[in-house]
Amino acid sequence: MTDNTLLTAIADREADLVALTQDLIRIPTLNPPGRNYRDICEYLAKRLRPKGFEIQLIRAEGAPADSEEFPRWNIIARHEGASAGECVHFNSHHDVVEVGHGWTVDPFGGEVKDGRVYGRGACDMKGGLAASIIAAEAFIDTYPDYKGAVEISATADEESGGFGGVAYLAEKGHFDPDKVQHVIIPEPLNKDRICLGHRGVWWAEVETKGRIAHGSMPFLGDSAIRHMGAVLHEIETVLYPLLATKTTAMPVVPEGAKQSTLNINSVHGGEPEQDPDYTGLPAPCVADRCRIILDRRFLIEEDLAEVKAEVTRVLETVKSQRPSFEYEVKELFEVHPSMTDRDAPVVKSTAAAIERVLARQPDYVVSPGTYDQKHIDRIGRLKNCIAYGPGVLDLAHQPDEWVGIQDMVDSAGVMALVLSDLLT
Ligand SMILES: [Zn+2]
Repeated sequence: MTDNTLLTAIADREADLVALTQDLIRIPTLNPPGRNYRDICEYLAKRLRPKGFEIQLIRAEGAPADSEEFPRWNIIARHEGASAGECVHFNSHHDVVEVGHGWTVDPFGGEVKDGRVYGRGACDMKGGLAASIIAAEAFIDTYPDYKGAVEISATADEESGGFGGVAYLAEKGHFDPDKVQHVIIPEPLNKDRICLGHRGVWWAEVETKGRIAHGSMPFLGDSAIRHMGAVLHEIETVLYPLLATKTTAMPVVPEGAKQSTLNINSVHGGEPEQDPDYTGLPAPCVADRCRIILDRRFLIEEDLAEVKAEVTRVLETVKSQRPSFEYEVKELFEVHPSMTDRDAPVVKSTAAAIERVLARQPDYVVSPGTYDQKHIDRIGRLKNCIAYGPGVLDLAHQPDEWVGIQDMVDSAGVMALVLSDLLT
């Protein structure tokens, strides 16, 4: 058996690959709130069980957002080879983000046009899920005597942190290194790029405090919005220039994300905004509360404690200048950076397969935002993990999202060659 036999087996399955992608798109697994998770897991079970996969449907009971109305269902399908060996696991998230405006095709129609399959989740990441299934099926048919095991999972809630999906499964031991040795996450990173990991995240809410009073006599109150103005000024003039000096050796794409970044997601102060159809005037009050949400992305060279201390210093500087200033910081979310070694077996094997299929060297990249690798690394303690899959990253979450059919075929070929390299 040669690589060519395997690549021919993939090419022969192109129509199946397209139909599978369409079927997956037509199950609208919207998150939030987490619709049709059970349906997509059952669809996959029905497909994979007859091919010899052992199926586990696992509900992340008690995970954030899990409810009777919107249960967080996951599927793990495992195929055992003829003898003992290592396990290669493909993990895709099955949830998709909201549709949004600006579509010219049916977001859940799975329309095929000009060599592309269209729909919400086509690129992020039902095309990748379909490619990994075709790769596994073609590999198993071509090498029935292979050693080890192939696993395919489709998991919930990646788009909202992965706690009802990979984090839950990792906590239950499904990504323990004695059980799974290689993980590929077919996120849409482009078919010639190997994604080694991602930057870190720290989210925090900063609240400034004031005292309410009549707006005609603001001197009787204390404006939380003016205090926040001073905080924002300090962030603008001190913190942003500091972050611009911090750059990384991680190969983060795009270029602008090779440094520390900070986004201020929101600012809310004073009385709540009324509904758009409210026709009355606002009331004159001094704002007694003002809140911002900080979204800080940090580098593998940075220490999370220092990332937090930078914000404390900003606030303490403002406090030293404004006698009545009081603040509170509420930490919301943190993720450490993750980066797999370039010499890790799954990286080397994927690089060789890309060279074989695409006749070019792969690019090695790191994602600016996080994805489920964090849970496999931190909870599962499995380091031999990458993201590799078809689709153009920039199309994710956009209207008229699509995935290229040839890209899916090529990346399925790469994934199948990785299986034959690691398991035969
Ligand atoms: Zn994704």
